[in-house]
Amino acid sequence: MKRYNRLFHLESNKEATLANRLVNGCWNWEWLRDFTGSRTSNLVNAMINEIDHIQLTNSDDDWLWEASIDGTFKMVTQKINVFIWRVVLNRLPTRLNLSARCIEIQRIGCVLCDWCVESLNHVLFSCSMAFELWRKIRVWVDVQIPVVSSWKEWIQWFDGWHVTAKKEDTLYVIISTLLWHIWRYKNAILFNSKSFKKNVMFDSIRSVAYKWVSSRGKLDTSWNSWLISPL
Ligand SMILES: [Zn+2]
Repeated sequence: MKRYNRLFHLESNKEATLANRLVNGCWNWEWLRDFTGSRTSNLVNAMINEIDHIQLTNSDDDWLWEASIDGTFKMVTQKINVFIWRVVLNRLPTRLNLSARCIEIQRIGCVLCDWCVESLNHVLFSCSMAFELWRKIRVWVDVQIPVVSSWKEWIQWFDGWHVTAKKEDTLYVIISTLLWHIWRYKNAILFNSKSFKKNVMFDSIRSVAYKWVSSRGKLDTSWNSWLISPL
């Protein structure tokens, strides 16, 4: 999460999950140094606000983006934020990560292509379906986003992309929604769920991102203009 980058640098254990930081129902942070600056404290409060209502479990989340009720949608966006946090920390249960934790799995090949090792970077950035969706998004937003192969590469480019805050925010939402969709799709295949079809992925990304940006009051375009030009 770009706006929480500062907190991430202050986190003493970059590998800690949010669940690790939740002790007996209370947030228990371990920062590298004390900070008294109000900007940083405000940032901590903002992040807690965003993530506090999420139940941290190991179970797989349900498909929720069909829901139109505001409350439910807010939960979806919170889930995406937590998902991104786990991407940053490389804490998602890819087959490579599971085998690195000595969890017995039969194969480490990618569930989508069976061609490469299923690492986080492969699934979200390089696997053929991810690659194709990134390409579609690039054309849709009409921005020369380079081909990136990791979150780090993406955020490095993004941090150096100097545009208005509104454009920045919108693209960040779109890319976060994209990555989340790819991950959900991979899980749907893995768990043999028919709940999500490949051919609606791009439409769903545009729809979820639209709701998300509108819910933050930062959108003054109609759905039709959003489809033509989101930024
Ligand atoms: Zn693959």
